[in-house]
Amino acid sequence: MSPSHILECIDCRTENTSGNPDTVCDQCGGLLEYRLVADKVRFTGPITFWRYRPVLPRVTETVSLGEGGTPLQRADRLAGSLHFKNLYLKDETRNPTNSFKDRSAALIASDAKSRGYDNIVCASNGNHGASISAYAAKEDIQCNLVVPSGVDMGKLAQMLMYDAKIVQTGDSIEEAIARARELESEMDWYQATTELNPLSIEGLKTISYELVEQNNVPDYVISAMGSGATLHALWKGFKEMKRLGIIDTAPRMIGVQAEGCSPISKAFSEGSNKPVKINQGETEASAIRVAEPIYGKLALEALKESGGFAVSVSDEAMLDAGKEIARNEGIFAEPASSAPVASLQTDYIKNRIDHDAKIVCLVTSSGLKTDDILRNVTKRKKSPRLGSRLATKERILRIINQGPTYGYAIWKTLGADMTIGAVYQHLTDLELSLIHI
Ligand SMILES: [Zn+2]
Repeated sequence: MSPSHILECIDCRTENTSGNPDTVCDQCGGLLEYRLVADKVRFTGPITFWRYRPVLPRVTETVSLGEGGTPLQRADRLAGSLHFKNLYLKDETRNPTNSFKDRSAALIASDAKSRGYDNIVCASNGNHGASISAYAAKEDIQCNLVVPSGVDMGKLAQMLMYDAKIVQTGDSIEEAIARARELESEMDWYQATTELNPLSIEGLKTISYELVEQNNVPDYVISAMGSGATLHALWKGFKEMKRLGIIDTAPRMIGVQAEGCSPISKAFSEGSNKPVKINQGETEASAIRVAEPIYGKLALEALKESGGFAVSVSDEAMLDAGKEIARNEGIFAEPASSAPVASLQTDYIKNRIDHDAKIVCLVTSSGLKTDDILRNVTKRKKSPRLGSRLATKERILRIINQGPTYGYAIWKTLGADMTIGAVYQHLTDLELSLIHI
């Protein structure tokens, strides 16, 4: 059987014949990527991730938790407030671990299983680590994660529950990736890091295939950019479909970065073909806090080839967009995932996109996993009393927890800054909430 894919260097085009999903060319150090060798493909079955098996590198084992096939939701309420008529959200929070990374993880775990590995190593600052540990757990493969400090609590909770071994190294994703490289060669573990395994891109490109089958070709597809991998992968999917004759035209790609960490967007506005050097990324949107974007050059190529553009938005704009998405469309997105919608508020975009253009914003991951949203919600100035009332209830619960007690004793323990009536009111509230549990 002829190979369905060739792994080759994107710079010197040398073919990598090791048979492993390596990422670095041993001739010139360039990035390696899979190239689909096919003139025609046929997809069968319902719209799920594995429907697109004919355009994915071959795996002999399949590890699946039901990934892909996520809804493309028409966002009329949100569109109304943004003055765009044809807005859609591709809701990737509906994947098994609530992030788009499940597409890459399914393919990577399948490949690791096909090759008979019982240990994998993965550097991640959040979603990919959570995702890969879930897929590894299902197949009894030991997942060894290398994470930088500051990983969101919800993502860390997932990693722990899926029983991954976690090592914390340094403060940046770059340091974690370097350690994962070392562990791969020291321990002979399977390398599952997004940036170090070209199957990641193959997994993510299925989003574009789904978009086309769900509602034809949009005019614009907007995605957040961290390493640049997602935007590049989406564009790769559209380019493949064009070559395969599935579509005639491809959408324009728009990439969005955080203002405090925008090496790709800055390069775009300066007309440079490689990411601008920055010392350190400053944004609370940890999923896109990447100072040295490995796929930055390819993301810039995608922007140029598709006739698209790149912008940056503030952390505040992302948090506000997150609220608008949740309140108007019922989707709870993490800040990085709200960046595409936030970009629609910028003058740059408003001046360039027609108000009736068909726009798809990629919502990559759930807000339930992130600390910054929870911090922001509890910091809200509008209802300062909410915080203090919760604090009092928490104190009461702690007192009750120490042993049997009664209202007057609680009032005494709490101190004199509250009336005894208020204490009884709190107790009634607590009783009610306990009954409702
Ligand atoms: Zn090369």
